[in-house]
Amino acid sequence: MRNVYARCMDGHFYLVNDSAHCPIDGSPADAATAVIESGDIRADVTLGTLLEAGVAARLLVDVMIVERPDGSDVAEVLQPR
Ligand SMILES: [Zn+2]
Repeated sequence: MRNVYARCMDGHFYLVNDSAHCPIDGSPADAATAVIESGDIRADVTLGTLLEAGVAARLLVDVMIVERPDGSDVAEVLQPR
């Protein structure tokens, strides 16, 4: 199972599902909006499929895809330091 994360303006990577806003600080990410609008959030999503679905290449720098075993816990936010 792959999960799509987008980076907010404060640098958090948050799980993109149906909200374009970071759950910590509420700031939006254009990349999250583009991913949601692409409708390409699926189990086998890749950067390539997001691009094909219409997400602009310049926004992919704020996107990260994490693959985890099916049924495992999924982090809502990743906070790199
Ligand atoms: Zn944030």
